[in-house]
Amino acid sequence: MALKAWDSSLRLPGLILERRTVIDGIVEMSGRLAAVGANCPDCAALSTSLHSRYERTLSDLPVSGSTVRLRLSVRRFRCTHTPCPRRTFSEPLAPPVGRRYGRRVGRCDALVRAVAVALGGRPGSRMMARLSAPWSRDTMLRVLRRSDPAAVPPPPARVVGIDDFAWRRGHSYGSIVVDLERREVIDLLPDRQRDTVIAWLRQNPQVEIICRDRGPGYGAAASEAAPQAQQVADRWHLFENASAAFLAAVRSEMPCLRRALAPTGPVDPATLTRAERIQWDGYQLREALNRQIIDLAGQGVPIRVMARTTGVSRKTIRKVLRGQRHDTFRTRQSSLDAWSLTLEAEWNAGCRIGAELWRRLKASGFGGSLRVVSEWATRRRRDEKLGHTGGAGLSARTIARSMTTERDTGSAQTALINAVIEKAVPALISAREALDRFHAMMRSKDKARLDPWIAMAAGTAPSWMSRKTLAFEGRF
Ligand SMILES: [Zn+2]
Repeated sequence: MALKAWDSSLRLPGLILERRTVIDGIVEMSGRLAAVGANCPDCAALSTSLHSRYERTLSDLPVSGSTVRLRLSVRRFRCTHTPCPRRTFSEPLAPPVGRRYGRRVGRCDALVRAVAVALGGRPGSRMMARLSAPWSRDTMLRVLRRSDPAAVPPPPARVVGIDDFAWRRGHSYGSIVVDLERREVIDLLPDRQRDTVIAWLRQNPQVEIICRDRGPGYGAAASEAAPQAQQVADRWHLFENASAAFLAAVRSEMPCLRRALAPTGPVDPATLTRAERIQWDGYQLREALNRQIIDLAGQGVPIRVMARTTGVSRKTIRKVLRGQRHDTFRTRQSSLDAWSLTLEAEWNAGCRIGAELWRRLKASGFGGSLRVVSEWATRRRRDEKLGHTGGAGLSARTIARSMTTERDTGSAQTALINAVIEKAVPALISAREALDRFHAMMRSKDKARLDPWIAMAAGTAPSWMSRKTLAFEGRF
């Protein structure tokens, strides 16, 4: 009974198994094709006139660790169709039994192919040896290069997503095209040039929906080459843009925030370390220049003239006038920002030695140098003598995080930051409200919530929303 079940697993449609023998741990099956006759490859006439037989050996999948071979008796037929020049032909092998000239049964071929795809030549060959179906690495590669006989060409993509990716970050970019219904990459374009994208879209006129970023590049290409397609801003980019807009809002309020978070007044240069003193001097120079620019602007001096007299680029002058370059003095500790919670906790628990703080931070994964930590400790000690509290050195990014993703972590610092912001910069609280509602709207996929959201966002923090986020309008 067990043997019968075992034999049935060897069975193949279209094949008659006649005998099975096991010699030296190798299972050998003998069989022949079940078809009565075969069609002549030249004239396609069916022939049942047997001419001769010969034997071919094919490898099959291993069974219980034993190698399995199929000895196939192949028939040669006479072509009986008089006008045909062909005298004899052998019956063709077709899947699932095998392939013309193939040395493996179809199911074994599929396994070799799958292993080659997953592991490649040499490792694939080693794995096959472990599976009792040894094939050389050249065979693995040959199978890999051959097009997959079982593959059905996919239907042409109807809904595509297109975005850029870096061949080399900051240097060269390509474009990736994804079939969003099958969730598969269907093409990689060598660059993100308009003409390249246009050419691709012209070759694919069946595209109905294009999902893209909110930049002008792909949008313009799609409008030109695929006017029939509907363009959609993809969700990831919308979330990304919203986060960037919120960060920009936090940045624009940083001067105000820093003053609020460091309520003890101006920096006392005497408390600074030597490295910080150099930064402090640079900071004061910048501030003086900013004041000068603002004064000049107040007198109606054109930007061009200001650039000449101050030696500052026009771009920077515009930034100053927009209030984007004003800042309070901030000592270098950006690599510590993410660790400020841990640092404060250790400090408050009584650990006041820089090197010890650094060791503890390092133990929990901090990758920065001892110097930044001991500078922090020095400053913290001095701040404490003067009665300062921590928090003035936080970056805009850390504050934005504390206000959003880390809001509910319940840490003391997050709570402090949020409380201070609520009192000092209520505009940011309404900006966060707009961000929250934006996320909720996007998740709900409720179109009806868009207009009320735009109205709400427009009313909250005009300088931020009008510039960055209202660009969402009409792009859904
Ligand atoms: Zn023929």
